[in-house]
Amino acid sequence: MNKGHAIPTREAGVKQLAPGVYAYIQAKATWYWSNAGFIVGNDYVVVVDSLATVDLTQRFRDEIRKITDKSIRYLINTHHHGDHTYGNHVFAGATIISHDRCRRELMGTAIMDPGLLNTIFPEFDFRGIAATPAHITFDKHLTLQMDGREIRLLHFGPGHTVDDIIVYLPEEGIIFAGDFIFLYSTPLGMEGSFAGWLKNLDAMAKLDARVYIPGHGPVCGIEGLNLCRDYLVFVQSEARKRFDKGLTVDEAAKDIALGQFKQWPNHERILINMERLWREFRGEDPSTSKLNIAEVFLRMDAMTKAGEL
Ligand SMILES: [Zn+2]
Repeated sequence: MNKGHAIPTREAGVKQLAPGVYAYIQAKATWYWSNAGFIVGNDYVVVVDSLATVDLTQRFRDEIRKITDKSIRYLINTHHHGDHTYGNHVFAGATIISHDRCRRELMGTAIMDPGLLNTIFPEFDFRGIAATPAHITFDKHLTLQMDGREIRLLHFGPGHTVDDIIVYLPEEGIIFAGDFIFLYSTPLGMEGSFAGWLKNLDAMAKLDARVYIPGHGPVCGIEGLNLCRDYLVFVQSEARKRFDKGLTVDEAAKDIALGQFKQWPNHERILINMERLWREFRGEDPSTSKLNIAEVFLRMDAMTKAGEL
């Protein structure tokens, strides 16, 4: 478990996974760098996720256009986070599909102030971002039939957030996993449930896919899912010991030695993960027990700068 592993260099850009099935992979997996994908049928295209900014999403759309000029009919959002939805409106005319609660989150949460985002994450240009919610929503599952190809959208309960879905192509054995898989990028569990996340990974593993496209990190097989799982199990069990001893969130975040996971970018997310786990250990429901994200981000930033995380 603590043997450590080398972080491989990844192939960025469009990667074909099967006839008509493509992943769009970022070179980085740090804050706001997220993956997406698309599926090309006989008459139209289905896109999986937009990106964090207008510019990033336009670049993604340009890459799709190098492959096909067919119309983009559907845009699926794997969950409500801005790095998967803020560029939805770039695919104007597409019908957006998401989980019911993803739509509610996008309708209910005022979009983060682009000026503030630009200050915290200066490598991006957040001007023009928008919260554009889905036209079609579902709860447990929805299947798109595309020229004989099944595109199954599945929700297994709260995990990374309360509204994550996966996009499963059974014939091809491919899963667009959204943020259920962070690979060589620290999993961020601020809004869902660690126990639920693990159940989701188990449900996903049972589908026995050949290829997974993580929300953050390189395309992988089951070993990538398992490595993400290792992080969640490790952090959950280390947190539990400290919770039972009566440590505070900050004390636990400083105390846990991350071992092999320390080399994953954004290891400071341990603080956010402790915030969520403390609520989970107290039996709070993730739908109603929300973090004050701005406050936690500022504290995380200060603790990181002080070398405490
Ligand atoms: Zn996310």
